[in-house]
Amino acid sequence: MLIDVYAYVHQNFFLMYKYSLGKFNFDYFPRERNGRILVPSLGSSFFDLSNVKSYPLDKVVFAEWMGIKIPLLFPDQNYVEVVTISESNAVIHFDIIASIFYFLSGWDELSGSIDSLGRQVYAKSVVKELGIAKLPIVNYYFDILNYTIENVYGIKRLQHYGNHSFTTHITHDIDKCESGWLEGCVSYIKRMQLWNCIVLSIKRLYGLDPWFNMDEVIDFDLKYQAKATFFFLAKKGRYRSLRNADYNVSSAKYQNSIKQLVEAGHDVGIHGSFGSHMSARQLMLEVDKLNALVYGNRFHFLMFDLFQSPSVMETSRILYDSSLGFPDFIGFRRGTCYPFYLFDFLNNKVSKVVEFPLIVMDSTLISPKYMGLELSRVGQELQPVILEIQKFNGFFTILWHNTMFSEVKYGGMRNVLEEILDYCLLNNSRFTSLKDSWSEIMGK
Ligand SMILES: [Zn+2]
Repeated sequence: MLIDVYAYVHQNFFLMYKYSLGKFNFDYFPRERNGRILVPSLGSSFFDLSNVKSYPLDKVVFAEWMGIKIPLLFPDQNYVEVVTISESNAVIHFDIIASIFYFLSGWDELSGSIDSLGRQVYAKSVVKELGIAKLPIVNYYFDILNYTIENVYGIKRLQHYGNHSFTTHITHDIDKCESGWLEGCVSYIKRMQLWNCIVLSIKRLYGLDPWFNMDEVIDFDLKYQAKATFFFLAKKGRYRSLRNADYNVSSAKYQNSIKQLVEAGHDVGIHGSFGSHMSARQLMLEVDKLNALVYGNRFHFLMFDLFQSPSVMETSRILYDSSLGFPDFIGFRRGTCYPFYLFDFLNNKVSKVVEFPLIVMDSTLISPKYMGLELSRVGQELQPVILEIQKFNGFFTILWHNTMFSEVKYGGMRNVLEEILDYCLLNNSRFTSLKDSWSEIMGK
């Protein structure tokens, strides 16, 4: 079963690139060959769902674009240059449509390796093999299309977002709010700081936990005048051996928190629990428990199933998702720092759900299972990623759990976030919630 890769790429390109002429077609020959921008459809028959295969990496050619060496898939037989522009038409010399589809839809992950939770990981990805985790390759491809359009039609892309150089989304997954005293005590006892443990335990007797800290998080975000996004986990307890929430979102305490966040203009989304990435029934039940107008989702532990999850979310009336980052590495899992429509492989169609790719998660940086960085090295690792986002006036979506704002167990992580966000502020970023970005992009 072949996929209409052209339709998917066309829709995603024009989601972010606007022109005074509106939308127009590229001549994806041999289907058509009478237009002004010709793209050879060398890869369109490659995307056959009954015969999923990886693109052979020895067939990749590298070309220079915007001063960077980028990989191109499906090149012309006698490939010489990226694009030839003459008078009022142009020929692109590789199948840029298929190349975009390959990374943006997640096709490269269909035949990839998964970890014990069933997640695609960076360590065994095509993105790693090509060395492009910190290079938003799809943005480079989009830039090639834009360059060609601007030159052929003599027009300019309409600019967005005022004078800001990029957009930062601060997001918080709320997994734990009640067990800070316990995990804090364990960590204090290991360091022989018994008194700290006693203090935590006494506070606990009065119903206080250092991880029930929504006020602290909101105050922090205020420094950036940021409307943030909070994803609440609506299922308590364990799922097999895995941990869901340590709190009951239906209780008055959490319903009040949600109400306060919404009243302050923040975005409250659902943090789909284990299993909900495969079950619309489960995800819908969880959304209902928040008693809020929910636009978006991020799956707990970044679970995501290429076949099921887009359709699960669409059925559950989720408008945007932000689960797609590698758990074990920062950067551009789907090759982009732009929002994009997911591809629904189950139903072979463009999904209505818009993805805001996750660029960096706190635990990715520090967990010994993942990058295991010293806190002092985080800035250095992230800077090239942020520079790429700036280059494309893109979207920097960052996940910091509420637990990381507390000195209990995760001392120092709040300062790390502050350094990152100060850097963004200094570099002329604006700060919005995912919901506000979604509304702006969709014009709703
Ligand atoms: Zn989570």
